[in-house]
Amino acid sequence: MASGRSHDRATRLLSLPYGLLWWPAFGPAGAAIASSCFLFGGLWLSPDLDTISNSTRRWGPLRLLWWPYRRLLSHRSMFSHTPLLGMGLRLLYLSGAMLLLSALLAPLGSPTPGQLAAAAPTLWQHQRPWLLVALVSLEASSWLHLLQDGDPVPRLPRLLRHRRRRRPRPGRR
Ligand SMILES: [Zn+2]
Repeated sequence: MASGRSHDRATRLLSLPYGLLWWPAFGPAGAAIASSCFLFGGLWLSPDLDTISNSTRRWGPLRLLWWPYRRLLSHRSMFSHTPLLGMGLRLLYLSGAMLLLSALLAPLGSPTPGQLAAAAPTLWQHQRPWLLVALVSLEASSWLHLLQDGDPVPRLPRLLRHRRRRRPRPGRR
């Protein structure tokens, strides 16, 4: 399992070359979106939000948003450290948290959850190619993390593996 530091370093080092891969098809705007989403995915939305990690700390006071997520999942659970499923659930979770925040802040003039939910289909309709670049890049950052962790494919939840390893073996020390 890689340390938080090496996850951060690899994300930073690869974000630019990764973004440049998108330049031929999507131009400089596509490269910029791909690069920044890869960076955001690796540094702020990493699978390690399931524990106190660099990603968790980067959210500053907003890291409270991730407290229930951390409580619900054990570290390196298959729900945080599985391709597609991990990032998919984090994006869903974040969307839910944003809707909740907007409901709380609506009296102060922020858009209501209803307004946000109504804007989503329009955004998808008009900006689909950019949104797809963004989503693929967020997922790519997650893949980098999983490859570094040595878990590119789903495995038994860590908790269970741990328990199995800890069971004392008879006749051996
Ligand atoms: Zn991890």
